[in-house]
Amino acid sequence: MALIDVLIDELRDLYSAENQLVKALPKLAKGANDPELKQGFKDHLEETKSQVLRLRQVFEGLGKKPTGKHCEGMEGVIKEGAEALEEDAENASFDSGLIGAALRTEHYEIAGYHAAIMMSKTLGLNEAVGLLQANLAEEVNTAKKLQAAGKLIFKAATQEEEEDKDSQPASKKKASDKTSERKSKEDEKKAGV
Ligand code: FE
Ligand code: FE
Repeated sequence: MALIDVLIDELRDLYSAENQLVKALPKLAKGANDPELKQGFKDHLEETKSQVLRLRQVFEGLGKKPTGKHCEGMEGVIKEGAEALEEDAENASFDSGLIGAALRTEHYEIAGYHAAIMMSKTLGLNEAVGLLQANLAEEVNTAKKLQAAGKLIFKAATQEEEEDKDSQPASKKKASDKTSERKSKEDEKKAGV
């Protein structure tokens, strides 16, 4: 398999990931309590749409079609984000979970763009490099903004804990929590560290 084919696979993966995020980001925006965090998700949705268009341009330049691969990794990361959206938590604690989930999506994308940019550079595909770097810059910027938002929101979450320390009944475990708990023990056992 030639490097260009590996690159095309990487790019199709990214294309699928971006499309999945166009569907997922409105849910994060809707769920967020903090108005700035909400707006941040909305802004990144618009950026993500333009990232899809840039990736289409990359494919056009290469004379290939963008579809053909579903990004399983992003599907998984988004699933974890959906779990955060189901948490029964106070305002800032809830938002803290969303920030954790969103940071994972951004860093997953960042890793993908790093690899694709390096491959494109190696192959001398300058137009692709420029377009991919534009997408990467937006992901890096979004991750920074999420971290800045986290600073304030995590702090607020610690205050919530103090307010309702005594008033919280122990929450019941869902079936999915139990499966997750069992699997995590299996992960530990298989690793054998
Ligand atoms: Fe993106
Ligand atoms: Fe992103």
